This record gives sequence, structure tokens and C-alpha cells, in this order.
Amino acid sequence: MAAGVCGPAPLVFRLHEGSPGLVREVLLERGWVEYDEQEQEEGDWNLYWRASAFRNADYENILPWQRLNHHPKTVGITRKDCLARNLKRMKGTFGSVLYDFSPTAFILPNDYTKFLAEYTKNRLENRGRLVYWICKPVDLSRGRGIFIFEDIKDLTYDSTVIVQRYISDPLLISGYKFDLRVYVCVRSFHPLTIYIHQEGLVRFATEKYNLTSLGNLYAHLTNTSINKFGPFYTTDKERVGQGCKWTMSKFRCFLHNQGIDELPLWQRINSIVTLTLLTIAPSIPCSPNCLELLGFDILIDASFKPWLLEVNYSPALSLDCPADVTVKKGLLNDLFDLMGYKKVDRLRQRGYLRQRYRHPSYFSSQCLQTIGSPMLLFPRFMYESKPDNQSQGESSFHTLHDDNVGDSDDKVTLPLVETKQISSARKSKGGTTCSSCPSCALRPKPNPKSTTAGNRTRPPFSRISEHAPWPEARDTESALARQPLRLSPVGVWKLPTIQIQKYKPPTYPWHNISKENSKPPSRVGDFVLTFPFNEATFKASQSELDVKTAVQEVHRLMNRLASPHMHKVK
Ligand code: ADP
Repeated sequence: MAAGVCGPAPLVFRLHEGSPGLVREVLLERGWVEYDEQEQEEGDWNLYWRASAFRNADYENILPWQRLNHHPKTVGITRKDCLARNLKRMKGTFGSVLYDFSPTAFILPNDYTKFLAEYTKNRLENRGRLVYWICKPVDLSRGRGIFIFEDIKDLTYDSTVIVQRYISDPLLISGYKFDLRVYVCVRSFHPLTIYIHQEGLVRFATEKYNLTSLGNLYAHLTNTSINKFGPFYTTDKERVGQGCKWTMSKFRCFLHNQGIDELPLWQRINSIVTLTLLTIAPSIPCSPNCLELLGFDILIDASFKPWLLEVNYSPALSLDCPADVTVKKGLLNDLFDLMGYKKVDRLRQRGYLRQRYRHPSYFSSQCLQTIGSPMLLFPRFMYESKPDNQSQGESSFHTLHDDNVGDSDDKVTLPLVETKQISSARKSKGGTTCSSCPSCALRPKPNPKSTTAGNRTRPPFSRISEHAPWPEARDTESALARQPLRLSPVGVWKLPTIQIQKYKPPTYPWHNISKENSKPPSRVGDFVLTFPFNEATFKASQSELDVKTAVQEVHRLMNRLASPHMHKVK
């Protein structure tokens, strides 16, 4: 039965077997209904969510109102060996100064001789100072099959593995190792449009870090999937080292209380994300109905340098503790806002009425063709900063100490967003070809009425620049660094936005924006636009992605931020 012919068509989600239950929960809370294969037809869904990759046919048969949660061919960064290979290639092209954020890696057995040479060189050069390595099977995840070694005689493997230099001097909190799970949304590869979520997770090992016990995975790995089997794991404690995770807000609050200027750290992380995505962006087919949520795992070392450990395809959305609930629910809500659906799907409904959109083949295998305007529209609301509790601690050398930090249990209030108009879908029905997608730049015309429709609880997005409680994108590093934590009217601590690029968000209303200069919104919920971040990168991301210019701009930004007189630089 074609849904929605008689009345307003509700938004419908389709979950592939094994998809996270949280996706279902959040979408149901937002008023969506679940697709029923027995009752409904292929075209009766709006969002298809899979934890695994889609088939080519899924991309080929997509209808104008439908979206997929994966872009094709992102394996170039989400598989450990592909990531290592691609980063090495970029290092060769653009130099090791910028691409120095990933520990040296070798893919074995192929690179065994190279690894042996490096291992021997290190042994000779670092007399007395031990060098450690970590071995990871390339096709496993969640810490499975990983071990750490110092002596090559302990290296054994029976499948393809990467052997990576082990960051043996991680930053510790109260003696425990931790890493950051940073959530990244690639809303589009053509033009490249990257958002980083301000919330994220800090995942702790459950036993104290100790280089004399390399076999103790509970001290060396930070995966929850490993640590939850540890003797000290419990979800119910507030202190570090007992199986807890922190929200990123709590971590930032902690850094703030330690008197640490966090901004350079976040800028480096932003750059890591951009530089990593630039390695694959030109090779990703244009597919405007897709978006990708990635989990970047970042380890911070004792000198505060962030290292990229890996990029996770379909980052875990299971709920192990209160921090998971806060972060992942908020994340998914913001992600769905970024997709820009309206409450009901008039596009699908009218598509059925006109019977014009029955399985057209919009995409070719070489270059997926556009359906005209990207289906990902722009919500109009202002974010609400999330409350977080205050933390305390004392610092000592590179081990920071946490005293007692409570979990925040704040909730995101959802806005309504507009959906694309049928007219623009109709305009694009002919399937314009994308030469790296110039035609993908067609933008939806806004429906002025819809800004006032529904029970929107957040003020319009366009008001951010006038009333935002935090410094906007134009602020300088020093201005941000000076920003105190603020007390909101409801008495909760808020942290400033981590955004330092000088990039002006678009001026609303949308109908004044021509397709040539339309810019993505600088913020959607807690997703902050990190690429493009200035006019040069905006231009470089249009038509065919100009990777060289993009990399140079990241370099310039890094240099400018490293300068002590950064705020004076124009
Ligand atoms: P998986 O996909 O199995 O989770 P990761 O590469 O994320 O593999 O590694 C798992 C964990 O091992 C990380 O979360 C981190 O705690 C630790 N780890 C991985 N690589 C390194 C490294 N090079 N140096 C230090 N710790 C590492």
C-alpha cells in the first residue's frame, strides 16, 4: 500500500537487522513510524539506517524523499589498513608536518621488512628507552585481537594486521588512560561539508596505566567492550577508573578547572578530522541523499598532542552508562535535525499522488547523479548549550587528577525543520549529472510559513549571531580562552562553543541565497561546522574539491593558531 495518499504521510524509518535500538527509540520519540516490509512498499520509507554498508542497488534505486545513513566507499578511512595507507600517501604528497597525527604504522605481512628495519633502527637509536608497538587485526573492531609488545619475538599473527607505534606516554587522569570518541558527520562529500559534535565521550581504562604489565588490556585499552569484562568495571560509579565514561562537556570542564587552555587541542582535533577526510573525499561518489556519522578515536599524549587511532564506521550507539544516554541520544537528535526532515512527508505523499517517482535510476555507478537539491536541509533554531556539572581536580606533571565529577542528565529539546519542496525535486527529475556535482548545489526554496509551524521550542537559528551566549565563529583564540564558564539563568554551567575559525555563517532568510554562494549553517544543535571554515575552503569545496588548497588552508590556520600573536593576525 502506498502510504500517505489519503492523509499526511508520517515520516517512516527503516532499520536493517542489527541496527542500534537507540535509533528506533529516538525516531519513535520524534513521531516517526517504523517501516513494515510486509505491509509497505519499497518507496514507503524516508530514512534507511544500516550498521553495515549499503549495496549499490540501494544507492541506485533511491527516491527523492529517501536518505541513507552511509555514503558509498568510505572504507578508505574506516578500515585500519586503508587508513594507514591513505595517510601515508597524503604524508608523501603534503609532507609529514601536517600529516603527523597518526602513529607510524605497518601493514603486515606485506610491510614486514619495513617494520623490521624501523624496529631495529629504534632499538639502536633509543638506547635504554624502550619503544612499544601495538598489533591490531585489520578486520576486527572493539579491541578484539589487539596486543602490545616491546620485543619482536612476541609478535605473532595469522591474518592481516597493522603494527603501530604504541603511544606509551598517554595523558592520564588519576593514573588512568583514556581516549576521546569524537563524533563527526559528513553531511556531504560534494561539496565537502563536515560537522563535529560538541559532545562526545571520554572512555577510561579500568585499571591504572602501567608499562610493566603490557598484557593487562584493562590498563592499556579504552574500549568499553573490553573493559566491561574487567574486574573493576561498574557502570554505577562517578569516579574515574571504575568503568566510567565522561561526557565531553565534563572533560572540558575538568580541563578548565585544571587551568588548561583547551582551544589548541580542539583546533588540532578539528584539523585531524579535516585532513583525514580529505584523503578520501575526491574518491567518494556524489550521493546527496546520504550522510555519514563517523566516530574518530583520539588519544592525547602527555604533551597534549592528539593522535588519531582510528575512524569508526557506524560508531557504537549502545547505552552502557548515563554518559552514553546523554551523549548518544543528543547526538542522534542533532543528526536527524541535520537531515532536515519536516514533521510529515509531503514530498513522498505528493510523489505517490503524481506517480512520478517510482524507482527512477538516479545514480550511475561511476558518478551518482543528483536528485537536484541535496535532500539535507537546514534547520532553523538556536542551540541550547548543555548543562554540565562542575569538576575539581589537582594537576601534577602529566597525570591529572579527578576528584568527583557527577554526570549530567540534560535533555535536548527538538526543533521542527523544513523538508524540501516538491517543486525542486520535480525540477531535478531529469537527473543532472554531477561533474563532481556542480548541480548538487541546487538549494531548496524555503517555505516561509514553516518557520512558525509546530511546537518548536528553540528560537530560530538566524538569531544565533545576535543572541548567542557564546562567542561565534569570528572570535579569536584569545577571546575564547578568556571566556569564563557561565552560569545560565537556570543555574547550570555552560561551556563556550569550540569554534575558532573566522567563517561567517550564512545570512538568512534562505530564499535570498543563490545557489552559488549558499553556505551550510555553522551550527545545528551541537553539531558545529568545521569544514569549510573560511572563504578559501568554501571555494575549494565547490565544484571539484581542491584538496591542495584545502590542505594549505588547514596548514595556515594551524600556523596562525600556533602564533602567540594570533589575535593580531588578519
Ligand atoms: P578497535 O577498532 O579494535 O577499537 P583501536 O585502534 O581503536 O581498535 O584500538 C583500541 C584501543 O587500543 C584504543 O581505544 C586505545 O585505547 C588503544 N590503542 C590503539 N592504538 C593505540 C596506539 N597506537 N597507542 C596507544 N594506544 C592505542
